[in-house]
Amino acid sequence: MENNKPNNENSQNQEQKPQRDRRPNPHRQNNSTSNPNRGPQEGATQSGNTNNQNQQRENRPNPNQNKKPHPNRKPNPNRSQNDGENSEGQSNKQNRNTNRNPNQNNRKPNPNQKSGNKPNNPNQNRSGGGGKGRGKRKNVTTVNDTMRASIEENARVKDATMNPWKQIDIASKGKIRFTPLGGLGEIGGNMAVLETETTAIVIDVGMSFPDETMHGVDILVPDFSYLHTIKDKIKAIVITHGHEDHIGAMPYLFKELKFPIYATPLALAMIENKFNEHGLKADTKYFNFVTLRKQYNIGDLQIEWMHNTHSIIDACSLAIETPAGTIIHTADFKIDHTPVDGYTMDLHRYAYYGAKGVLCLFSDSTNSHNPGFTKSETVVGRTFDALFDLAKGRVIMSTFSSNVHRIYQAMERGVKHGRKICVIGRSMERNVETNRALGFVDIADKHFIEVHEVPKYSENEILIVTTGSQGETMAALNRMASDEHRHIKLKPSDTVIISASAIPGNEASVSGLMNKLVKAGVTVRYKEIPDIHVSGHAGQEEQKLILRLVQPKFFLPVHGEYNHIAKHAQTAAACGVDERNILLMSDGDQVEITPKYLKKVKTVKTGKTYIDNQNNMTIEDDVVLDRQKLAEDGIINVVAQISQSTQKVVGKPVITTHGLVPDKEDKKFAKEIEVMLETMLLNMKPEALKNHKNIEDDIRGSIRKHVVRTKKRYPLIIPTIFIV
Ligand SMILES: [Zn+2]
Repeated sequence: MENNKPNNENSQNQEQKPQRDRRPNPHRQNNSTSNPNRGPQEGATQSGNTNNQNQQRENRPNPNQNKKPHPNRKPNPNRSQNDGENSEGQSNKQNRNTNRNPNQNNRKPNPNQKSGNKPNNPNQNRSGGGGKGRGKRKNVTTVNDTMRASIEENARVKDATMNPWKQIDIASKGKIRFTPLGGLGEIGGNMAVLETETTAIVIDVGMSFPDETMHGVDILVPDFSYLHTIKDKIKAIVITHGHEDHIGAMPYLFKELKFPIYATPLALAMIENKFNEHGLKADTKYFNFVTLRKQYNIGDLQIEWMHNTHSIIDACSLAIETPAGTIIHTADFKIDHTPVDGYTMDLHRYAYYGAKGVLCLFSDSTNSHNPGFTKSETVVGRTFDALFDLAKGRVIMSTFSSNVHRIYQAMERGVKHGRKICVIGRSMERNVETNRALGFVDIADKHFIEVHEVPKYSENEILIVTTGSQGETMAALNRMASDEHRHIKLKPSDTVIISASAIPGNEASVSGLMNKLVKAGVTVRYKEIPDIHVSGHAGQEEQKLILRLVQPKFFLPVHGEYNHIAKHAQTAAACGVDERNILLMSDGDQVEITPKYLKKVKTVKTGKTYIDNQNNMTIEDDVVLDRQKLAEDGIINVVAQISQSTQKVVGKPVITTHGLVPDKEDKKFAKEIEVMLETMLLNMKPEALKNHKNIEDDIRGSIRKHVVRTKKRYPLIIPTIFIV
């Protein structure tokens, strides 16, 4: 809020201190005709003037109709502390206003104080307001009633401008609920539900990546349990853009539940590719192609897709008009004023909704820690120019296959430098094809060649665009680096450009890739080159711009781990959102939002389903748990025959272990188990031997105790018992 301070402290104070007040208003207290706490200069106001001002106020159109200043408002010095729960409606606004009063004595008053001159307005002295020595001032502006009225008027307009949400009808009974089911407390896997009494929409259905403990798991999709419980209410799936972490789980959802899908053409084209892969071709009948700047009635919601700039084409934010008020959901964005295709973020629409009053803003927190602005995508094109100039042999460029502007810039530079383009890698080929078909990549066929044609050209006539910037084992670049690619063998004359940064969690695999590339002797161009990659997410200054355009009452930072959303909350508070009107959520938290309050009401089931990409099938949780156990603690197999009559092992039990004891100790360990088994059987009640399952459980329990005691490990134990 410092930004709004009318005085010059602001310019020196760069640090953002969260404050609750939107704006200190030095003139606010004039609403009260007899305010004992009023500062000396205000004390000069005569009661007649005040009446006059009140009169004027009533006669002019009020931009802030349901928020008339309270004529009887009393300043409350205690108000400067947080003394409420979530601020609520009218009373809250009064709090805000009274909050300002404790400051008023320190505040710089008005124009006549500048440059140390002393006021010569005799009224001020007469007021007894304590203006020491002011009567001696000469040659300064006289503050007359007209000027005071004008100041008052402007202050009111400013207040309305800074708090447009005050137009929201506080008496409205409208109520909505918002539940993130993925994407909070994590990067990726974005999915959320917005509900009214009668309607629910699902916003994005994204996937995320497993960590190294999830053996054999390729991707994670959100748990759809909650969607099953409200499926009759769900009217649509609303997609913001075509990134995997926003659409990647769509086919898995559609195998369980199907709803109409609303999205821009590229996002739908990318979903179609997925549906085709999963045998869901027929489900394209659920597609609804949206037009920007148009409202769609979905249940009792009106939704507009607003163009934004991001690291994929056709990305959007959402403006959702609900019975409780307007919600703006930025989704992933940055503010690129010079995007590759020339279509900037539609900031006018954010301003339009902001001016009408926005109840709640949900905004992208991914880059909350980055000060300043994220650079424009176009800077990478200039870097490519420089790198192409330097390259003597083949150029191999790798980036995210969805970053079409990046790919396009590389291709365009390649063509300019007389190179043929060879696209390698399944997702890269598919995305380039899709984007060319939709007209987003306008490069003629003649510039493209197939991979087997590469040797026909000289080295400086080749540009290879490929996948694998994250060091993925199966991706084309890694196979080239490991000398396992069928067509492309790396040569020392090659230049490999990695135009990406490692996604958190992928650092080790990227480092592994770098090692292989360096070993192969190629020239690697990576993050040490300035502007070889720029982020697709907003830095703090862009986050602030959105906060200021939208000026919401409530704020929910989304898309990010806890530290990202917490940082974004600080930025929002610095931009005038009341701290009590910001909530830090986790996946599964359900918040209720009304014009009066924002509060968490319950927690719903969330989680991840494991997917094996080889067959696109689910891996059950217990399978992954068993794999973790096997990987960390090994396995013990016990096969034995037990005589019911003697309670003894018949013959020799077969005891094998893997991943627990070294081979040379196998026999010794087997003997320990055998002895333990015999002792256990002798002490067992005869009827226990009648229940097959019980005896196996008992044996498992005994072995576990023994192994925990002797080895401090928890292996998988599989007894197979035959009772004879
Ligand atoms: Zn994205």
